[in-house]
Amino acid sequence: MGMFNQVTVPEAIYCPMCGEDRSGWFVQFYYGDLILQDYELGQDLFWDMEWEWIGHPSIPGVWAQGVLLGCPVCHFHFDDPHDEFYIVEIRHNRIVGVIKDESGYGWWAEDWVAVPDR
Ligand SMILES: [Zn+2]
Repeated sequence: MGMFNQVTVPEAIYCPMCGEDRSGWFVQFYYGDLILQDYELGQDLFWDMEWEWIGHPSIPGVWAQGVLLGCPVCHFHFDDPHDEFYIVEIRHNRIVGVIKDESGYGWWAEDWVAVPDR
């Protein structure tokens, strides 16, 4: 796997190395055009579909697995799967949620799953 995208976690996260809450953490995910795009919550995905992409813009509901990158200040990395994994929820091509995946299951079998439309 080469390129990916990332989205800013909307909430501050406590960094045990810094000893305080930090904002601006990124979650990396593999869905949409893989163009190293920095997304924000509420933004629509890009779909040029010219080079490398995962998924399809016609899928109405998607959960993409997200992995938390290092602390934006000190680069500390969480290793515990309860802290490390996120769900990037996409509805009609808009990022509507960046939610901590507290299941502890770790890596999914696929980069993303279709979820029922609502
Ligand atoms: Zn830190």
